[in-house]
Amino acid sequence: MALEPDISENLLAVRGEIEAAAEEVGRNPDTVSLVAVSKSHPAEFAELALRAGHRVFGENRVQEAQSKWPSLQASYPDCSVHLIGRLQSNKAVNAVGLFDVIQTLDREKLAGALAREMDRQNRRPNLFVQVNTGEEPQKAGVLPAEVDAFIKKCRGDYDLPVIGLMCIPPIDENPALHFALLGAIAERNGLGRLSMGMSADYPTAVRLGATEVRVGTAIFGSRP
Ligand SMILES: *Cc1c(COP(=O)(O)O)cnc(C)c1O
Repeated sequence: MALEPDISENLLAVRGEIEAAAEEVGRNPDTVSLVAVSKSHPAEFAELALRAGHRVFGENRVQEAQSKWPSLQASYPDCSVHLIGRLQSNKAVNAVGLFDVIQTLDREKLAGALAREMDRQNRRPNLFVQVNTGEEPQKAGVLPAEVDAFIKKCRGDYDLPVIGLMCIPPIDENPALHFALLGAIAERNGLGRLSMGMSADYPTAVRLGATEVRVGTAIFGSRP
């Protein structure tokens, strides 16, 4: 059996890195939220992080989150769970019921489905629009040239609670360029939150204004 990661030790180390990166650029580290990405790991790993005092988590699949989180949410009512993976419109019903934040809004059909479900369930998880900053054909997200109009539509036509932007840079490019682009798009649209940075690059993301960093491997070890 693989050695279990020391999750509370890892959380401390990651928080330390966030603090150092924030201070380097004169930011208050408290403005950065660490989203601990527990996807593909057993509920026990998430619970170890919860017991260590951590409260913000990320999952990439609706079904997996549904089997893992309702009982943890019952024990830790102040925790919040973010959806960071692709959401099919027909799963909007489950996603609105389960998640506190949905970071992957990227098309009009989904905007419509989320708006309908939010009305029906009287629940309004905050939303991030995912931007395909690298314009990669296989990747989800709105293209940079189309994102201003999309945000306007989400706010105006669908009255959705869009609070920020999210991106996943191409693996073979300098992430700093993508983080800077995401920041510029957010600024011109009056959005205050930036979800960017993963285990390999979250300090860079913090230096460039990330308000949520999504860190899995550095906290929970490599995924099975
Ligand atoms: C898996 C995942 C992460 C975490 O990646 P690590 O490299 O393990 O930190 C962050 N964001 C998204 C969208 C992911 O799917």
